[in-house]
Amino acid sequence: MSIEEVKSSYDCVVIGAGHNGLVCAATLARSGRSVLVLEAAGQVGGAASTREFATGFRVSACAHLLHLMSADLMRELNLAGMGLEYAAVDMPTTALAAGQPPMVVSEDRLGSEGAAYVAYAARMRRFAAVLAPILAAVPPRLGTQRWKDRLALLGAGWRIRKLGRRDMRELLRIGGMNVHDLLQENFTSPVLQGALAADAVLGTNFGPRSPGTVLTLLYRLAAQASAGAALAQPKGGMGALCEALARSATAAGADIRVSTPAARIVVEQDRAAGVVLESGRSIAARTVISSADPKTTFLRLLGAHFLDAGFVRSVNHLRTRGLAAKLHLALDRAPRFTDLEPASLGGRLLVAPSLEHIEHAYNHAKYGEYSAAPLMEVTVPTVNDPCLAPPGRHVLSAVVQYAPYGLKEGWQHGRQRFTDLAIDTLEGYAPGLRASIIGVELLTPEDIERDFRITGGHWHHAELAFDQFFMVRPVPGAAQYLTPVDGLFLCGAGCHPGGGVMGAAGRNAAHQVLKQVS
Ligand SMILES: Cc1cc2nc3c(=O)[nH]c(=O)nc-3n(C[C@H](O)[C@H](O)[C@H](O)COP(=O)(O)OP(=O)(O)OC[C@H]3O[C@@H](n4cnc5c(N)ncnc54)[C@H](O)[C@@H]3O)c2cc1C
Repeated sequence: MSIEEVKSSYDCVVIGAGHNGLVCAATLARSGRSVLVLEAAGQVGGAASTREFATGFRVSACAHLLHLMSADLMRELNLAGMGLEYAAVDMPTTALAAGQPPMVVSEDRLGSEGAAYVAYAARMRRFAAVLAPILAAVPPRLGTQRWKDRLALLGAGWRIRKLGRRDMRELLRIGGMNVHDLLQENFTSPVLQGALAADAVLGTNFGPRSPGTVLTLLYRLAAQASAGAALAQPKGGMGALCEALARSATAAGADIRVSTPAARIVVEQDRAAGVVLESGRSIAARTVISSADPKTTFLRLLGAHFLDAGFVRSVNHLRTRGLAAKLHLALDRAPRFTDLEPASLGGRLLVAPSLEHIEHAYNHAKYGEYSAAPLMEVTVPTVNDPCLAPPGRHVLSAVVQYAPYGLKEGWQHGRQRFTDLAIDTLEGYAPGLRASIIGVELLTPEDIERDFRITGGHWHHAELAFDQFFMVRPVPGAAQYLTPVDGLFLCGAGCHPGGGVMGAAGRNAAHQVLKQVS
């Protein structure tokens, strides 16, 4: 069905068919709302889609590992019934370091650090379990007299209290710390420290010494606590997850249109009343829910003239400059990493050999330069899912940090040098890799901004930091998925609880819409 054939009026129009837009649409449609989803790109998925980057070679475009989406949400939307299959679950993490054997990060494989790791992992899991319910709910509002808001805050306090005196004190102590200091306290192995720190800084504008990095780590662990699987790889890449989400939404009655960019949000009598498409067609709606990033939603699709000056200033000041690039290699054979166990090649490989390595990599980015020795998260998805490449060939997919949006020398100059640097780094661990390359794609944050319509190309749409967090995310006046314009809601990664393929923002936003608009 083409866009000309869809109805001219819906209860809800969702802008963007990234995973959050699709979760939101499916949840609303299942509650009986008529829903239209508009996606600018030619396919669903946004930053969680699968695409061909060299003839016959496909890869998960940005997100390549599924580990944050709650098992409840996946069951609720019947994703297994909608065709979601896994190529791999419980994928191992292996830390690489020059001149040392690869280290499998697992309780029983860490030798003298094993006992410390068991205690650390158990403690962090307890803390994550306290935070997990916060991720799955609309954040309370600050300073209201409403009992619901007070109860939500009390609930969080009570869960912390229930940890008991020792854990409570420890959580409060480490909550504002940096991950460098936390890992120095707990471990002596630089390789293990680097591998654990990587999880705190991936996708952020932080190095291990940055304040708040224990919080970002706990946040990730909290989402993982309710996830359906530990590190997993959907069969067909991340896009297959979003196709299953789209089928779930469609089965519940939603209409989804790709290659249909929204040009502007229509406001009538001070409330959102629909959208105008780039084609010029208007679609009326009682509510408009945008999964586009906050700057795109407020400044481009809505327009600053509908907002007060202070609010516009806050949106303008949102920190949205991405630092994660994505490298995709088409290979004529499987890469051969020195001394790597065969099982590890189908898992996650980290190039983060010490805290100092990551901190130095980050230092460059502070001054608008790319890292001289980057941090990398590498997968070889074809080991688990050969269909992504022609027979016998392979794909390597790597997040490469730090690659700042707005590179000082400009990405038109820096692109080839940074690509070479990343490949040389990998060649050091997998000799012969360069000679096996038959296709290369590097997505810088500027490419991500252009291809996925994410301002700044940021992993979380807006930095996940204390001042852009929880009850003030993305900005005061637009938290709780509400906006200053009645009938306009947000549902993307820019909202609580942030990015990653979690779906919590989409689901929480749908619940807010259902509550606000009867
Ligand atoms: C390099 C990189 C690697 C990552 N790796 C991982 C990972 O391994 N695991 C993980 O969990 N997370 C990862 N992430 C984070 C994750 O990809 C994102 O946080 C998540 O996909 C955001 O989902 P979303 O639905 O909120 O937004 P998006 O995926 O950005 O979707 C928004 C959609 O809105 C559409 N849109 C925008 N404007 C319009 C318009 N005007 N009209 C119509 N449509 C519009 C866009 O085209 C897009 O499809 C990674 C991110 C990056 C950048």
